[in-house]
Amino acid sequence: MKFICMKCNDFMDYEDQEKVADQRLGLVFSCKKCSSSFAMVTNSGETQLVHALGIQIGGRSGPAQPLELTRDSLKEDVKSVGPIWTEEAEKRILNVPSFARQMARKGIEDYAREKGSREINGKIMDEYREKVGM
Ligand SMILES: [Zn+2]
Repeated sequence: MKFICMKCNDFMDYEDQEKVADQRLGLVFSCKKCSSSFAMVTNSGETQLVHALGIQIGGRSGPAQPLELTRDSLKEDVKSVGPIWTEEAEKRILNVPSFARQMARKGIEDYAREKGSREINGKIMDEYREKVGM
């Protein structure tokens, strides 16, 4: 997603995001040339999409970094002491298309938490898959 400054006809930079309200996100873009800026507010569905995309608004400059996923899951861990992914589960989650992976990961982790399991393994993934019909 990219925005163009109507005055300069140049790409605007993604600057910042802030949580406006529950499930809503304010995304701030600005123009380097004339320093005008604007904010876009998403609805809850779009917020989920933004999260699913790993918040790469403004266009990513290169291919996905291999560590990106790990970094994100570490953040999750700090928040909620996330479950442990077995090697098998880590491999299987890679079968999920990258645009949906973050969401699938979170869904599986939430499911495991509900079940009181601290480990994400093939069995949990099977159960989750059956539950959501993935
Ligand atoms: Zn401008």
